[in-house]
Amino acid sequence: MTLSVTNTLTGEREPFEPGDPDSVLLYYCGLTVSDYAHLGHARGWVHTDVMHRWLEHLGYDVRHVENFTDVNEKIAARAGEDDLGEDEAEVARTFITQTIRDMRDLNLLRADVYPRVSEHLPEIIDLIETLVEAGYAYESNGSVYFDVTTFDDYGKLSNQRVEEMEAQGEEEERGDKRHPADFALWKADGVSEDAIEEHRDSDTDYAVSRPSGRTWESPWSEGRPGWHIECSAMSMKHLGETIDIHVGGQDLVFPHHENEVAQSEAATGHRFARYWLHVRLLETEGEKMSSSLQNFFTVRDAVAELGANAVRMFLLSTSYGNPQTYSDETVSEAVDRWERLSGGYDRAVEALDDPDARTKVADDDLRVAVEETRADFESAMNDDFNTRRALAALLDLVTAVNRHVDDREEYDYEGLRRAVETFGELGGDVLGFTLGGETGGDVRLAEDLVELVLDLREGEREAGNYERADALRDELRALGVDVQDTDSGASFKLP
Ligand SMILES: [Zn+2]
Repeated sequence: MTLSVTNTLTGEREPFEPGDPDSVLLYYCGLTVSDYAHLGHARGWVHTDVMHRWLEHLGYDVRHVENFTDVNEKIAARAGEDDLGEDEAEVARTFITQTIRDMRDLNLLRADVYPRVSEHLPEIIDLIETLVEAGYAYESNGSVYFDVTTFDDYGKLSNQRVEEMEAQGEEEERGDKRHPADFALWKADGVSEDAIEEHRDSDTDYAVSRPSGRTWESPWSEGRPGWHIECSAMSMKHLGETIDIHVGGQDLVFPHHENEVAQSEAATGHRFARYWLHVRLLETEGEKMSSSLQNFFTVRDAVAELGANAVRMFLLSTSYGNPQTYSDETVSEAVDRWERLSGGYDRAVEALDDPDARTKVADDDLRVAVEETRADFESAMNDDFNTRRALAALLDLVTAVNRHVDDREEYDYEGLRRAVETFGELGGDVLGFTLGGETGGDVRLAEDLVELVLDLREGEREAGNYERADALRDELRALGVDVQDTDSGASFKLP
């Protein structure tokens, strides 16, 4: 079975066929770095990360580019706030640093390039010039707009007709435009502070860049690039004129991605992206969302609270093409499932290392379960990256491992070896969980620290400080460490 994906461009499920049969060019519409990333952003990242990992698993060489939008009035508006920085560039830098940390914490594969808008002004201006020369864009009062009526396919991604479209952009620029749906490629400097204030207060998420931060020279005026043009310029520079997969949040289909398609295809005459994949949004339960949840709604707080693996488990438990609900219940369900998965893996490893594990002992049920998990997982992932079903397949293997270990006196070494290998390949390499490794290190450290406290307690006892010795034991018990005194000294069990 080969990979098929749901292409927003056609609204259809299509077999995945990249331009070069051996490699995949992937662009992810990245973060506007005006705040800390939240779990909604992490949902886009983690699903894109798993797509990347699955494509590599299928044997493709993946080139992955993800931009940072570091030119935006929402960033400029935060200059001078707390310790974020004195100007737009410094604020952007602060949030890029934190974003990279978040990405590492979530165990995301690194992209090949993380281009930034502020470093691509020459490419952006070149692209706008091409569009003006070819008659797709026009200058008006120092700003440049894309003329949507010149591009026949305008509306094909979001499935709309130009005649029925709402006006794009801000009220005050309408007079400069030929058609209300035309959108800005370049914005002349000189917009009033009032307009910036108004924009700052508006809850529009897709901001068209307003000149309130840095400005650059251009053939039309000193100003700033419009938002949409950046992704076309950066994608073309780092991946070429036609890419295989363009991924982004569902909220970006219109106008951002529609505009990317129009300006890119108008400029090159070629198809811009073969497949448009959109990650459905993370929805909260509105008013019902508790303050405890809000506390870790940012990626950094969620990872600190739940651990990266549980966060990944939560985000992957609903496939990218379906909306996901964020609630106390769905989060705690994910924590439980992560504990089941990591517990199953640990049990398989322990049994494998047990001296009673033998190659000559065969448990057909376990071996068949390994094969079924592999087949189910593969068919789920090839079915438009269905991570929900892929996780279910892995958890079936946990059930089989538990049954084997519970029922058997002697373990099937070969069966367990295959199970552990499968957890590592599918759970680790493809779904990006950290199985075993780190936890093992943490457990060893915890054991060493408990030993240290017990040695101190022994010292107190020998010195006759029984009260102090008992207090140390009680402190350990309060942490969940089960301390037992035996004839041969103290023994303990970690929680
Ligand atoms: Zn974009």
